[in-house]
Amino acid sequence: MAERTYPGVCLVDGTETTKRKAKNDIKKSLTKERGQDQEAASWLVQFSGKYRPQYWIVLLIEKDATLKAIDSKLRSLWLECCGHLSQFTIYGHKFQSNPDRNYGDDEEGMDISVESLFRVGLVGEHLYDFGDSTHLTFKVLDFLPFAPKNRNGIELVAQNHPPDIRCSSCGEPADRICLECLYDSGVEAFFCEDCFEEHECDEDMSLPVVNSPRIGQCGYEG
Ligand SMILES: [Zn+2]
Ligand SMILES: [Zn+2]
Ligand SMILES: [Zn+2]
Repeated sequence: MAERTYPGVCLVDGTETTKRKAKNDIKKSLTKERGQDQEAASWLVQFSGKYRPQYWIVLLIEKDATLKAIDSKLRSLWLECCGHLSQFTIYGHKFQSNPDRNYGDDEEGMDISVESLFRVGLVGEHLYDFGDSTHLTFKVLDFLPFAPKNRNGIELVAQNHPPDIRCSSCGEPADRICLECLYDSGVEAFFCEDCFEEHECDEDMSLPVVNSPRIGQCGYEG
């Protein structure tokens, strides 16, 4: 059961937290480190891998940020490999990075403020890449009197620790994924540097182990 707590770090003050406790821990840390600012208002939003829930982050997002700004933050932190399309789904509406107006008006773009979309408790989804897709879910945890520290209005305030992934040959921490093994078997595709050198597959068919739900997909190298 220990693994199910999905441990991580609150980046406001460097304290330990978990996926479940992150909301309260972050609020405590922000209050202690920065003090409440009644002029400020931001959303606290947790994203996680839909099928890889051990990967999670929490973003502090200024109240009128755009979906586009959040999308580009997700790309730079977690997702970007080769400029694929992405999409948010919120209340059944789809918001795409490159909306195709010819398909009618059920697809909107991402140049829209979250002020009118978000409310505390909202659950939505994000998809990156319609081919080798990475699916995220997100939840608006809270609305808080703090401002993000970055100039772009979105701050990473907590993140999971890298999951403990082991070499399938020797049990040491893994740092390469063999894509040939991954596609063949789906398991035993993780290797440490030494064992990867030893094993038979094509050297170029590999990706690094990275702390992201896009691990092992397309050409994602972190
Ligand atoms: Zn790609
Ligand atoms: Zn090894
Ligand atoms: Zn292999």
